Amino acid sequence: MSLLGAHISVAGGLYRAIERADRLGCEAMQIFTRNPLQWRGKNLSDAESEAFRRALLGSSVTRVVSHASYLINMAGEGAPRRMSIDAAVHEIERCYQLGIDSVVIHPGSSKDGNRDDALMRLVESLDEILDRTSDKTVSVLLETMAGQGGVLGSSVEEIASVLENQGWDRRLGICVDLCHVFGAGVDIRSEGGYARLVSSLAKHIGLNRVGCWHMSDNRGARGSNIDRHEHIGEGEIGTIPFGMLVSDDRFADTPMILETPHDGIGDEGNLALLRKLRGYF
Ligand SMILES: [Zn+2]
Ligand SMILES: [Zn+2]
Repeated sequence: MSLLGAHISVAGGLYRAIERADRLGCEAMQIFTRNPLQWRGKNLSDAESEAFRRALLGSSVTRVVSHASYLINMAGEGAPRRMSIDAAVHEIERCYQLGIDSVVIHPGSSKDGNRDDALMRLVESLDEILDRTSDKTVSVLLETMAGQGGVLGSSVEEIASVLENQGWDRRLGICVDLCHVFGAGVDIRSEGGYARLVSSLAKHIGLNRVGCWHMSDNRGARGSNIDRHEHIGEGEIGTIPFGMLVSDDRFADTPMILETPHDGIGDEGNLALLRKLRGYF
């Protein structure tokens, strides 16, 4: 059975997210362990991480992933790149303290500069981040992006090239965001389209390195580079790839995290739909 969950608010304390996820019956969840729009969160107290670990043990949640700060650009230059590396290291340390086994990070952006140079800086940044946290068993998952402007990671192949150039550290993996993949041009609307996406992941990355799936439909058209999250089945993608994925035994242990809007049917409605689709394909 797949591990279904959602991105959950940590308002009121990190452990409160587990209570919310448990109420929704989530098997997995994603959180920001700190404000994603700030460079540095305050240090976690032992009491906070204890409360989190205790709540986790008594809940329906079996897997937690963290989403790193949006400010991090591992492909940047100069001071912002140094700050990004430090922030990523700090995030991995927080995850380790909380018992979270993976962190999702956006690969970064070349801004207006040369894409190949930016990809090279990304590889060097990852090297340093993994090196500085080599005693922490936390995986770093690069998220697939919708391909706006100089944003890196708009294809499975590009993320594979980063992993390849880094040397395939066993803590490196990929988070596949279906909304982004579709926005970047991959046609996943049919059963064949889903199968082709998984084949390309198997060929270029290895399915064991797929550490997380992000689940939302896209209001934007395929290949539009638009990243406008929509309720499952209410955008341009439709329900098929989501149904295929939640029924796919190869990903039975991989967190599948809703990133759908909070209006309308909300997480509750989207989870109910995914549960119905589970086992249907
Ligand atoms: Zn993301
Ligand atoms: Zn995402």
